[in-house]
Amino acid sequence: MRIQTYDQYQAAYQKSVEDPEAFWAEIAQEFQWRKPWTKTLQWNFEEPSIKWFVGGKLNITENCLDRHLATRGDQPALIWEPNDPAETGVTLTYRMLHEQVCRMANVLKRNGVVKGDRVCIYMPMVPELAIAVLACARIGAIHSVVFGGFSAQSIADRINDAQCKLIITADGSYRGNKEISLKGTVDDALIGCPTVERVIVMTRTRTPVAMLKGRDVWMEQELKHVTSDCPAVEMDAEDMLFILYTSGSTGKPKGVVHTCGGYMVYTAYTFQNVFQYEAPVGERAPVHFCTADIGWITGHSYIVYGPLACGATTLLFEGVPTWPDAGRMWDVVDKHQVNVLYTAPTAIRSLMGFGLDPVKDKDLSSLKVLGSVGEPINEEAWHWYDDNIGKNRCPIVDTWWQTETGGILISPLAGITHTKPSYATLPLPGVQPILVDENGKEIEGNGVSGNLCIKFPWPGIIRTTYGDHERCRQTYFATYPGLYFTGDGCLRDEDGYYRITGRVDDVLNVSGHRIGTAEVENAINMHTGVVESAVVGYPHDIKGQGIYAYVIADQFPDDHDADLTKRDILATVSRVIGPIAKPDKIQFVSGLPKTRSGKIMRRILRKIAEGDTGNLGDTSTLLDPAVVDEIKAGAL
Ligand code: ATP
Ligand code: MG
Repeated sequence: MRIQTYDQYQAAYQKSVEDPEAFWAEIAQEFQWRKPWTKTLQWNFEEPSIKWFVGGKLNITENCLDRHLATRGDQPALIWEPNDPAETGVTLTYRMLHEQVCRMANVLKRNGVVKGDRVCIYMPMVPELAIAVLACARIGAIHSVVFGGFSAQSIADRINDAQCKLIITADGSYRGNKEISLKGTVDDALIGCPTVERVIVMTRTRTPVAMLKGRDVWMEQELKHVTSDCPAVEMDAEDMLFILYTSGSTGKPKGVVHTCGGYMVYTAYTFQNVFQYEAPVGERAPVHFCTADIGWITGHSYIVYGPLACGATTLLFEGVPTWPDAGRMWDVVDKHQVNVLYTAPTAIRSLMGFGLDPVKDKDLSSLKVLGSVGEPINEEAWHWYDDNIGKNRCPIVDTWWQTETGGILISPLAGITHTKPSYATLPLPGVQPILVDENGKEIEGNGVSGNLCIKFPWPGIIRTTYGDHERCRQTYFATYPGLYFTGDGCLRDEDGYYRITGRVDDVLNVSGHRIGTAEVENAINMHTGVVESAVVGYPHDIKGQGIYAYVIADQFPDDHDADLTKRDILATVSRVIGPIAKPDKIQFVSGLPKTRSGKIMRRILRKIAEGDTGNLGDTSTLLDPAVVDEIKAGAL
């Protein structure tokens, strides 16, 4: 299944377009199925209804764990590097990981979880997080991982949307020099979550936590009561594997649903090919270090499922790149002789700011492949990564994809595809991108740009948004009938290379995190003193995009009050969503530029936030054109 030359890539691509079913069937056959599928693909993008490997039965953990025991039982599956370099880490072989997953799965069963139940996971980046995820998959429970930085309100919204029965959490988590309470936040969330019957609490920070009789149990205690014998539950290829919430252009996060068969095949295939990962049995397996959090799709697909499905050694890092110092990531690479490093442009840009001192004495010679994900990577960051980390001998794969795509769609294959800084380059086999104009008309040829759509399903595509299929149709399949719409703008250059230019909807990408402007506005508007607000993105040196909020307060504040009010607004946003959604800039205004029909003209606000006030275009259709001058004068 691994492509090894550019010719093979072209041949694979061609086959995947001419006969997608035969192409994917051949790849899927390499996995362990309890029962073979009867039809490889059934689909239409109208409803949408997409089914891969119809009738096939499997369990993804049998493929990620049991399948490797005979050949790789003693090979490290998961290496854990803790937040504090002084703390001893953990290495779990495939045999140990298998055993721990089975035990955790038995704990879930003991606590009433059965196939089809939804389980929320709100955990630090520790092995138990990966184990909890796999334990759910083992017994057919649907996991919904919520990133450990989200607020109680966000957890509650997600739990209620999915009607979760149980939540797995920890007392607290460490991030750099901070200790963060998790159980306390979960307790706040659960005040409004009637469906949760049980809370499993792992000990990490040993901070005092409230333990409610009849509801809360300690993970360590529970594990004492179970054996490591837990047969995997047979799942249909199209049974739900997990829900992962992501922001869109409207207020409420959507529960993106992925299913067992297609997601497994797609994450494994893309992992192996994009990173050119090969682990011959009996030799030291290359160490794959993806720096994302398992709370995001990148962590699901390229820390947990993709690597384990391929029998890889995956590294899980609890900490942050800048603590105890800005050399931490390079220390981890050095210490574990990391071979593949997969990180985000934001991290690279922030580390660039520290100069070369933190890199100087680190042995980075084990590195073979570098990856980038989450946002467009600018040329300067690309070259810094290439020169100083890869020492110009490691191919960089700029991987474009989304929560909804399950795995990477457009990316170089490491060392095979010729790369160009800031280009995600070419579609992977099975992926058929097309650019369309506003009216949905295909833009053909090269040297063009448009809205990026995909015209044919791949195995990892979103199946539905949990509990609201119509929303899935509306968001992704209705804008351009017959196409999956990504929400991204894209350029295809003279060579047919793709470069993603950023979102074309009201979604921001702040440090690689997707945040809907409407979500932030809703949160700001919850502050008592706020009448209305409008949020836009602006270019930010490190975060890629920063959040700029225009706020109408009920009393236009003087300087002193303005500062306090801003702080309160930030606190409100932290409470409602989480610290990642806090605006970088808040400007108080007396009005917002609105059309006569009451629509906020974000285009104007965006330009002002970008500092590009020279040409604001036509403002004559505004209800009150004078407000624009006032906003311009007060711009931050
Ligand atoms: P994660 O959030 O887990 O790191 P992700 O950013 O790939 O993964 P999403 O949070 O769903 O996934 O965000 C997807 C959006 O991120 C895309 O629509 C696009 O705007 C942007 N994006 C992701 N990867 C790239 C890339 N390589 N180049 C440009 N934009 C990217
Ligand atoms: Mg992201």
